[in-house]
Amino acid sequence: MSKELHSKTKIDPFGTTAIEDYEKLYEEFGIQPFKPLLSEIPDPNAAMRRGVIFGHRDFGRILSAMKNHEEYAVMSGIKPTGEFHLGTLQTAREVTYFQQHGAKAFYCIADVEAYEDNHIQFERSQKYAIGNVADLLALGFDPKKGFIYKQSKEERVKDLAILFGRGVTLATMKAIYGEHHMGLYLSALIQAGDILLPQTKDFSGPKPTVVPVGIDQDPHLRLTRDLAFKFRRKYKFIPPSSTYHKLIKALDGSPKMSKRDPMSYFTFEESPEVIAKKIRNAFTGGRPTAEEQRRLGANPDICPIYDLYLFHFFEKDEDVTRLYHEECKGGCILCGEDKQRLIEIVTTFVKEHQRKRHQYMDKAREILKAE
Ligand code: SF4
Repeated sequence: MSKELHSKTKIDPFGTTAIEDYEKLYEEFGIQPFKPLLSEIPDPNAAMRRGVIFGHRDFGRILSAMKNHEEYAVMSGIKPTGEFHLGTLQTAREVTYFQQHGAKAFYCIADVEAYEDNHIQFERSQKYAIGNVADLLALGFDPKKGFIYKQSKEERVKDLAILFGRGVTLATMKAIYGEHHMGLYLSALIQAGDILLPQTKDFSGPKPTVVPVGIDQDPHLRLTRDLAFKFRRKYKFIPPSSTYHKLIKALDGSPKMSKRDPMSYFTFEESPEVIAKKIRNAFTGGRPTAEEQRRLGANPDICPIYDLYLFHFFEKDEDVTRLYHEECKGGCILCGEDKQRLIEIVTTFVKEHQRKRHQYMDKAREILKAE
């Protein structure tokens, strides 16, 4: 939504999101902290263990389904406006985690939103979508146990959106999202259809459903939970649960990557050389001189290089802890050395990912019924 909570915090799925303090979101929005649940989660993933996933709504319902081996679903997706990047990688890993832990997985290609929000024609978004699906498969999503679809071609989602149109007024949409053209409100209703699709008759009816998203997507969750309640009598919808991950910093140190600035992020289709250059040029929390850094230590809390390790590129939690406390704050490593180590890890990952992705392109075309 476009509401500003206080001077530096803003949550807007169709615009800029900036979070000054994640803790404040608990009181302001009724998001629950994730940490107290951690000890109960079977085999929590790195994002859960490291506090990258910091909040949830109604995750207890999902936890109970996981523990009791009951039916549940995971639903998320991607807006096909470009190649996979660090933000979409996060969501894909979360969807894959729940799929590997018993969830029926749904992944939507939000091409209607790409059209309405980013003015990307359907022919163009189709090209991105094929690559995005190949990325998802390369990251371990099992299409045999999941359903991947495009919003523009999924009649059941559009039918739900038509239905939901009767459940909201223009004033509600403005209150949640701010003033926009009608198409964006329509795409929000379609997203509500995406989120509740796993609970329709064709997919064996109502079931707990978790939607792992970045905090910027919370307005869609609040709208959908409200619609699930309004249409509960006929459809028996269970309000969707959600998990919220923090937003990874941009390479220039700003709070969120921006497509408008290609140096602020990298995609997995770029060459390792280009990615290495972007990492070398990235902002850090380092000191002006090597001597000062060795003596006083640096600041990982403002450093995008630290975020890259934390979110994606250190497999072991001990390595993250050591970087934070000993190497960075303790002044045992200089930023140039740290960047070089990261470049080596990212290069290995990207080369392997690109190899797998290439192998999945035909499968992705088949799934999306593309030429
Ligand atoms: S040592 Fe590493 S984590 Fe610390 S500020 Fe420098 S680049 Fe960032």
